[in-house]
Amino acid sequence: MTLSLGERFKPDFPMLQQLVHGKPYTYLDTAATAQKPQLVIDRMERFYATEYATVRRGVYAPCQTATQMYEAARERCRAFVNGSSVTEVIFVRGSTEGLNLIASSLGRLALKPGDEVVVTEMEHHANIVPWHMVCELTGATLKAIPITDDGELQLEALATVITDRTRIVSLTHVSNVLGTHNPIELVAKRAREVGAYVVVDGAQSSPHVDIDVQALDCDFFVCSSHKLYGPSGAGFVWGREEILRQMPPYQGGGEMIDHVSFDRVTYDEPPYRFEAGTPPIAPVIGMHAAIDYIDAIGKPAIAAWEDHLLRLATAELEQIPGLRIFGNAAHKSAVIAFVMDGVASMDIGMVLDREGIAVRVGQHCAQPLLRRLGVHATARASFGLYNTEEDVARFVEAVREAKELLA
Ligand code: PMP
Repeated sequence: MTLSLGERFKPDFPMLQQLVHGKPYTYLDTAATAQKPQLVIDRMERFYATEYATVRRGVYAPCQTATQMYEAARERCRAFVNGSSVTEVIFVRGSTEGLNLIASSLGRLALKPGDEVVVTEMEHHANIVPWHMVCELTGATLKAIPITDDGELQLEALATVITDRTRIVSLTHVSNVLGTHNPIELVAKRAREVGAYVVVDGAQSSPHVDIDVQALDCDFFVCSSHKLYGPSGAGFVWGREEILRQMPPYQGGGEMIDHVSFDRVTYDEPPYRFEAGTPPIAPVIGMHAAIDYIDAIGKPAIAAWEDHLLRLATAELEQIPGLRIFGNAAHKSAVIAFVMDGVASMDIGMVLDREGIAVRVGQHCAQPLLRRLGVHATARASFGLYNTEEDVARFVEAVREAKELLA
């Protein structure tokens, strides 16, 4: 018997061997954070136990070795997104910090009163709030590209929302609520016409889509290790070198400087200019192992398997009267946000939890999107490479049970 992709790889994940409330743990919250394969856990443990040292700050052998590993991870991240140089990869704590770095630094470089920053109606708060903050500081204005009822960008609005006042367009590659894959190339084309920078939030796309920043024609791309089956506390920003060179530092501190005195300070070159303080060393090493892990399986295979689970679960859920799914994009990731008539999303989450099933409930850090959808909260199931058809069956069964119990 040939095993499915989920059945082959689930045993790699010790957390998924656990029982929750005495039931097998059915983890359907991978869009929030992915579980970790043993290989990544082992890599981190080995690093802490036998290789741990600071990086870029010492002449002693373990420090030099740790620095080489750290820089090897930088090269791995460059290749992961097809950047042209390692100097374009900045390590951060995750997508949120990456977007804050870009908004704060690029915003100060590029924005003045009257300028506009354009996001979309389907952004995570991490790609809204930092722009609000820099707009307040610079006198620029924040605008959003509207979405259709199916949860896709209204492409006909690009020409009117992105104008010659637009300096920066920042959008998610894949929505964490709707699963929609956005046509970055098309948006970038319009942004180029008006000379705007293009920032892509890759938190949700990087685990399933082969990323090529040259083909996307963006200027910045961010992602989080913990969504890539790696440790939390790491991620990276890829940015075009010629732009990074012009950008002011984000945070000040150790190792990002060239010269410091009480009269003046000069800064190091990118990427180090943007890496103040002791970096997340072990998480970066773990992220390297995680990227190797998913690339060895292959993202096209992962995406195809998750898509199979998405279709299976969607077809089953659509049979349940009174259940409504948000997001019906032609190209959709394995995320299902849904509500049930007369049942609070929190209650769905609690009934599922009793069955050992983990789903997210609430606003998914996307209040403007939920307002657009006309709901206060939804339940959200999301699938990862380790999920199986059995997980889908258990989930659908528990949703039916929740409806019977609560509706
Ligand atoms: N953008 C999107 C689309 C996300 O889904 C998330 C995480 N939920 C983030 C940004 C923020 O990522 P992190 O929490 O890893 O910083």
